[in-house]
Amino acid sequence: MNYDDLAQRLFGGVTTTPEDLERRYPPRNLPEGAKVTRIAPSPTGFMHLGNLFGAITDERLAHLSNGVFYLRIEDTDLKRAVPGGVETILKVFDHFGLQFDEGATLDGDNGDYGPYRQRERVEIYHTFAKELVRRGQAYPCFCTEEELSEMRAKQEAEKANPGYYGKWAVWRDAPMEQVLEKLDAGAPYVLRFRSQGDPNRKIKVTDLVHGLLEMPENDQDFVLLKSDGVPTYHFAHVVDDHLMRTTHVVRGEEWLATLPIHVQLFQTLGFKMPKYVHTAQLMKMDGGSKRKLSKRKDPELALGFYNQEGYPVPSVIEYLMTLLNSNFEEWRLANPNEDIKKFNFTTKKMSVSGALFDIDKLRDVSKNVVSKMDADTVYQYVSDWAKEFDPDFFQLLDQDPAYAKSILAIGRGVPKPRKDIAVWTEVKPYMAFFYDSLFVPGSDYPAHVSREDAIAMLEQYQAIYDPADDNDAWFAKIGQLAEKLGYAPATKLYKKDPSAYKGHVGDVSMVLRVAVTGRTNSPDLCAVMGILGRERVLARLQQAANALKESK
Ligand code: GLU
Repeated sequence: MNYDDLAQRLFGGVTTTPEDLERRYPPRNLPEGAKVTRIAPSPTGFMHLGNLFGAITDERLAHLSNGVFYLRIEDTDLKRAVPGGVETILKVFDHFGLQFDEGATLDGDNGDYGPYRQRERVEIYHTFAKELVRRGQAYPCFCTEEELSEMRAKQEAEKANPGYYGKWAVWRDAPMEQVLEKLDAGAPYVLRFRSQGDPNRKIKVTDLVHGLLEMPENDQDFVLLKSDGVPTYHFAHVVDDHLMRTTHVVRGEEWLATLPIHVQLFQTLGFKMPKYVHTAQLMKMDGGSKRKLSKRKDPELALGFYNQEGYPVPSVIEYLMTLLNSNFEEWRLANPNEDIKKFNFTTKKMSVSGALFDIDKLRDVSKNVVSKMDADTVYQYVSDWAKEFDPDFFQLLDQDPAYAKSILAIGRGVPKPRKDIAVWTEVKPYMAFFYDSLFVPGSDYPAHVSREDAIAMLEQYQAIYDPADDNDAWFAKIGQLAEKLGYAPATKLYKKDPSAYKGHVGDVSMVLRVAVTGRTNSPDLCAVMGILGRERVLARLQQAANALKESK
């Protein structure tokens, strides 16, 4: 029995040839320089920040070059796959506005290079597995778990490198009769790669982030197919990225160590190598030292966290961009209102050392991003968020969108917009006093304003209040009232001669503010009153005056 016979024996059902597959998936017809990228998550039900970090890189590289960005589902590890895992992936990427040109979708696959789910590609992997066996470059290994752990123990005792290689690779050169005997007995086996690598020799490979790398050749006879016939990551990566004509493989740095295996497989199969972009690990500061973000310790690692906590999508993307490209912040300063898609994203500006993730920085970035949105946009985001996470608040927003938008419009569209909001959870407390059902009366009046004066301010203001007043007229009236009650009509006057007054105009507006909003700080009070409307303003002023009277 020769290798041909063995290949036939192992993969008798496979009639497709590598040439058939090359024809089925021809090189893509794309303009010069167009990049083909993919994100290839496993449907574990847990999507993490690293997935988004990579996906942004993929999406930008593809779309800035008129290329293709696609989604492949890596579901070969059944132990990790969960029901609904694919839906979670699609939902999360959709939430972050990442649009795939092809790949897995909720209703099947979209594109000419599928199937895009690895479990549906078994015939494809077996075609190449068969070819490798035929060429003597892969072989079945019947070692049991016990035998492998015995081997590990021996290697440890002998201080030999661990793994299945050289003299330890017991099935590598096993006589064909022995192999047949096992196959006849129906013994389970994995298919291993017959490595010709020598760790004393170096391979050279260029990574677009890390530059030229020199790494020892791989000498491990690593597994291509597991005992259930399903490929390992290594094999599937090489076959899929070749046949799907990926030009740039963007993936986490944790794959760097096994790069020699991938290089070896590409070469053995005669495939053109893609370019590699190994992205930096996401780190955070913890007690003065840097560490990797951890699923157990850091809720912010989970992408679901950002949705629940109401982090605006454009803010998260904007912040990740600052981590991805070192010149992004500088570009943003020079182009404060430019569409982020205009930024010339490049692997040349990606960092080799870990990317330091800082949630406070994200909040700062977010305040800026939100401050530049118009009221309609904020309304849309907030109501979408509230619909899912705060239905009561959603109802309030939804019953009078125009009212909600007029509140959100305060301090927007001006050269120095207000920066009150970082996350959507903050909008309800910010807007609460505009709704009677959420309004909580306040009593935090300035300590040096007597109760009688406060009552006088609240009552006398009602008589002069005219909702038709513009900002200047509004302010002039507050000044007049101040003067009448012995407070300086301008802070300047007060500062010049504090002893001449009981206080100043700011005290009057503070008393009114506390009465109308329940708080000591609020957006522009004249604008606030305009939105609340005459009835509500008068009612709250009187309610506050009454409360003061009763508190005697
Ligand atoms: N399924 C792998 C992962 O989630 C994909 C790595 C890659 O992009 O090649 O880490």
